[in-house]
Amino acid sequence: MSLELSERFQAIAPSPTLSIDAKTKALAATGVEIVNLSVGEPDFATPDRASLAGVAAIVGNFTKYTPVPGIMELRTKIAEKLATENQLQYKPEEIIVSSGAKQSLYNVFMAILNPGDEVLLPAPYWVSYPEQIRLCGAIAVPLETDESTGFKVTAQQIEQAITPKTKAILVNSPSNPTGAVYTPNEIKAIAAVLEKHELFIVSDEIYEQLTYGTEHYSIARYSENLRNRTFVVNGFSKTFAMTGWRVGYVAAPKHLVNAMSSFQSHTTSNPSSISQKAALGALGTFDQAIVREFQSRRDYVLGQLQELPGITVAKPEGAFYIFPNAKNWVGLTYTMHDGSRIKVDSVDVACELLLTDAFVSVVPGSGFGAPNNFRISYATSMAQLQKAMQRFKDFADRLN
Ligand code: PMP
Ligand code: GLU
Repeated sequence: MSLELSERFQAIAPSPTLSIDAKTKALAATGVEIVNLSVGEPDFATPDRASLAGVAAIVGNFTKYTPVPGIMELRTKIAEKLATENQLQYKPEEIIVSSGAKQSLYNVFMAILNPGDEVLLPAPYWVSYPEQIRLCGAIAVPLETDESTGFKVTAQQIEQAITPKTKAILVNSPSNPTGAVYTPNEIKAIAAVLEKHELFIVSDEIYEQLTYGTEHYSIARYSENLRNRTFVVNGFSKTFAMTGWRVGYVAAPKHLVNAMSSFQSHTTSNPSSISQKAALGALGTFDQAIVREFQSRRDYVLGQLQELPGITVAKPEGAFYIFPNAKNWVGLTYTMHDGSRIKVDSVDVACELLLTDAFVSVVPGSGFGAPNNFRISYATSMAQLQKAMQRFKDFADRLN
């Protein structure tokens, strides 16, 4: 036998969002002052109630194994949250808590996908969906969208893409990386199509609280039929600024939750007992002021980008991302601060130059299935955003 890595691992690339963040931090550690607009991580603090509950868990020796799908108290409170905030009825046994929504999603895909199965994936998509789908031996079928439709797929587009191999569809509203939010009517039109086809729905609602005008509507609300084959995925990372605590969850019918729980029992067991207590402390503390703050940052960044030569940009309605199209920069030449000139062969190259010569870190769109775009996370202070926008202007001035 050979000592080669498995084919599965040979095909996998590191998460670009996380690796660009790591690269940015490594560069910053050498003394370069960088504005980091790469990783999707809120800049505000974890709510005190969550942190104190975490501390109390440590001091109280709540530091042992818990049931694999999470403590009943937390599952019960999540079910209550889904009922009051999302009009979704789930029993606590229909909730499984995991170490971040990323693990929740992986549990879901592993639970339902066989090799060769197809998953409809609206593009641009978050970087980890296609990789996780591939890890299951399944095939991500992108449903292309662009600025002209506000990066939203239509019900008709979905209907045309469904084949006998389609096992599931991914819905992510508000979207990472585009910030697109489907209106309740758009979700209902999609739901009406899905009603007619036997397939699973994976609804990633992790940015649900962060909308700036369009109300979030969970597709699982549409009908009992859809609810019974939908996985509602959510987590604490974005809403409660708890990225490092690693808590996510899925709501789904009990037999599906049980299947995922068996899988999780052999991979990671329960999510951290301390983090579960912190999550319990966080629920119900969401501060609407955060939405207003993100909205004003969005407005500022959008306005600035609209003025930037060569850039076209759709108005995002949610999350904390903006996804400008920079295809007009491709083919131009960039004059570096040391006077050397570099041909901008792709938006990837532009992003690399933005980082190394303009000291602004963004994520190239290629990892999101949109090579003409790049992603800005505006989950950082207004002062940092102003600095970044000035640097973007200088960058654009050096292109010709
Ligand atoms: N879904 C989406 C759309 C995301 O952007 C992220 C990134 N944080 C996740 C899921 C996973 O989040 P976490 O694992 O931190 O809960
Ligand atoms: N989801 C965030 C992002 O897209 C965090 C990094 C990651 O989990 O990929 O930047």
